[in-house]
Amino acid sequence: MKLNRLFLPFLSISFLAVCVLALPPAERKLEEIPFDGQLAHQYLTELCAIGPRPTGSEGMKRQQEFLVTHFSKYCDAVERQAFSFPYPAELNRKVIGVNLIFRWKPERKERILLCAHYDTLPIPTKNPPSKRNLPFVGAEDNAGGVAILMVLAQSLKEILEKNQLRYGVDVVMLDAEEFMFRPSRETVPGERFCWGSEFFARKYASVPPQKRGWHYTDGVLLDMVTQKNAVFEKEMFSFQNPPARRTQMEIWKKAQELGVREFVPRVGSIVTDDHMYLTQFGNIPCMDLIDLDYEPWHTHEDTPDKCSPLTAARVGWVLTEWLKSKK
Ligand SMILES: [Zn+2]
Repeated sequence: MKLNRLFLPFLSISFLAVCVLALPPAERKLEEIPFDGQLAHQYLTELCAIGPRPTGSEGMKRQQEFLVTHFSKYCDAVERQAFSFPYPAELNRKVIGVNLIFRWKPERKERILLCAHYDTLPIPTKNPPSKRNLPFVGAEDNAGGVAILMVLAQSLKEILEKNQLRYGVDVVMLDAEEFMFRPSRETVPGERFCWGSEFFARKYASVPPQKRGWHYTDGVLLDMVTQKNAVFEKEMFSFQNPPARRTQMEIWKKAQELGVREFVPRVGSIVTDDHMYLTQFGNIPCMDLIDLDYEPWHTHEDTPDKCSPLTAARVGWVLTEWLKSKK
């Protein structure tokens, strides 16, 4: 084949255009992102200013008031779901936990679950023994996840209505994700994770789907999502569970379209987290968004200065745009 010389410039321009289209969009700066990361960071800081907020504590009570006041301004229905669990196992003392459920469009049959644990570790278990009496305020673990949902709440009604989505949304604050006092993450008797998500899931599954009349189609768990220079891999348990994997694929695709590079397209390790309990006890499809590679994890150094408004903005933006695409 011989190319007409007149076509050459045209072809090179087309080739260039294809190349440009194939490139991911440029990364946006904080002020260019249409999700208020600065506000999320402010909420994160306010939550930490309450102080430690472990299950059943005075700090937790104050946090509950703060969150109920905030979310009530934007959602259609509020539910406090109380439960109790034995701790320590050998003494069988009862600890009371409360999941907070905020619903948008409660009458809708297909629902999206957005959740985050809002209790903090009772003591900084990764501190050296002499420093375990220092306060643990859990900025990244997990005031950040809560703060992003607080900002998202402010536009959820508009997102659902403007885009004519057929879904309802439940934003759920899960309690007692880590009511643990021992430094080891290994399972020891009585020391376990995720009481709140297990209770939530069991309650959901206790009514047969036909009788309940509604179900969750997607779930996203936010846990450790605001640290500086975050890297989100596809968490393995979510990846192995087909319904959660579908949500995961949609979210990573959206991040790629938006040029949010924190979402890297590779599968990471399995993380024991609320999504496992939601899946196991309630068959609720839920993926975990988490970056566990965090130096101050479970130490008293997990403070707001380790978190970034930019990361919060990018995560919130991806979530928002993903929601909008759920026609
Ligand atoms: Zn934790």
